[in-house]
Amino acid sequence: MNAKEIVRKQRDYFNNQNTISYEFRYNALSKLRDVILKYEDQLNEGLYKDLGKNKTESFFAEIGQVLKELNYIQKRLKKLMKNKKVKSHIVDFPSKSFISPYPYGVTLIISPWNYPVMLSLGPLIGAIAAGNTVIIKPSEYSTNTSKLLEEILSSVFHDEYIKVVNGAVKETQDLLDQKFDYIFFTGSSNIGKIVMEKASKHLTPISLELGGKSPVIVDQYANIEVAAKRVAFGKLLNSGQTCIAPDYVYIHESVKNEFIQYLKESIEEFFGDNPIKSKDYGKIINNKHYNRLVDLLDNEFIVYGGVTNKQERKIAPTILDNISKESKIMQEEIFGPILPLITYNDLNEVISYINDNPTPLALYLFSENKKVIKRVLNECKFGGGCINDTIMHVSSDYLPFGGVGESGMGSYHGKASFDTFTHYRSIIHKSTKIDIKARYAPYTKTKEILIRKLLK
Ligand code: NAD
Repeated sequence: MNAKEIVRKQRDYFNNQNTISYEFRYNALSKLRDVILKYEDQLNEGLYKDLGKNKTESFFAEIGQVLKELNYIQKRLKKLMKNKKVKSHIVDFPSKSFISPYPYGVTLIISPWNYPVMLSLGPLIGAIAAGNTVIIKPSEYSTNTSKLLEEILSSVFHDEYIKVVNGAVKETQDLLDQKFDYIFFTGSSNIGKIVMEKASKHLTPISLELGGKSPVIVDQYANIEVAAKRVAFGKLLNSGQTCIAPDYVYIHESVKNEFIQYLKESIEEFFGDNPIKSKDYGKIINNKHYNRLVDLLDNEFIVYGGVTNKQERKIAPTILDNISKESKIMQEEIFGPILPLITYNDLNEVISYINDNPTPLALYLFSENKKVIKRVLNECKFGGGCINDTIMHVSSDYLPFGGVGESGMGSYHGKASFDTFTHYRSIIHKSTKIDIKARYAPYTKTKEILIRKLLK
């Protein structure tokens, strides 16, 4: 079946009201949970083959996150689907007003390779809960997991409801040439622009979950030991191939040496003194990205790590010190286990740099000083983040996750996932028993006085 045929079939399926009822959506979510659990071992294997992910990390950062989100939404589905009563204005008397959620229709989810399970099935939960049909286009780079996703979903869902289309640029563009009712894209800013342009041809609303350089600020008031540990955790999860990984650290000069020391200790505590041999440490997705990252390793600045293994596509956790804002590594999203440190003395300089550059997806501040926390929150623009932690805001069902500006538009997770895939219709249900004539012509003086009284 080509892209056009799949979309047509899904549109017929949607237009025949198949996906609308509560029971249908609830059962689809149950089927999804069952099939994920059934295939958990194979998913772990796929993630290991693609990214060298340890089984515990795969559950913690992918499969478990999906199951958690699924439980959250399924438990609240009835409530989410309900019409929400609101007040009626006096000019609409007598009437009832309500906001009525309705699915968009035929939706497209395009996902990247770094968290291929979470970033395909996570949005799928929202799309199902909201009552849409879905086509998923996983990344061609995470070959094993992407193939598995197709096998898994086709074993429980018909193509006219949920269909995985594997392929690369051509297949994605064929899909993007069709008219969708919503497109949910996760990936790089460059491809995000292509997706947005294609969507504009059909005026299709979109979410763009993009990336960028997410800064960490560690100030002189921070708990340095904890900061180092949590930065190391966030940076090295999936070998740094995480959209919200700390990209670089702005470190206050007075605590820099202490921070570097604790960073080293944390890395060794997590992965031993030869991390690329650790079973808990992942690999780089492909040779292109491996070579790109090796190119960023400048011996002059390495204060820790720097070890590489081309055959296994592994790069040891590496700290670069005395990095200037003009250096090559500061010009692109790193997306790997290399952590540059920039030293600062004046918080104004840090805030200006962050605001003068593309708006980050995440920002992390380590500080115990309320004034500093307030300043950074008041003065910096970014998608979301943590104070005294990294990454963890992504895993809360209670927090909408997404970027702003160059890091994306729209958000999801928990209720926000349902909202993203839902159009909220505003409805006034009016009584026909009384028909106030003031709004109808001819507009007499008395009518004008009445209208002015009601609206002013
Ligand atoms: P990518 O943009 O290269 O690819 C994403 C998807 O787009 C893939 O499915 C790919 O097949 C498709 N694609 C590639 N070229 C295309 C083209 N010319 N036309 C249409 N589709 C095309 O991104 P990636 O390398 O897979 O992922 C890494 C990027 O994703 C990083 O920038 C990272 O920060 C970002 N990311 C963001 C989030 C988030 O939640 N905000 C999560 C993970 C990754």
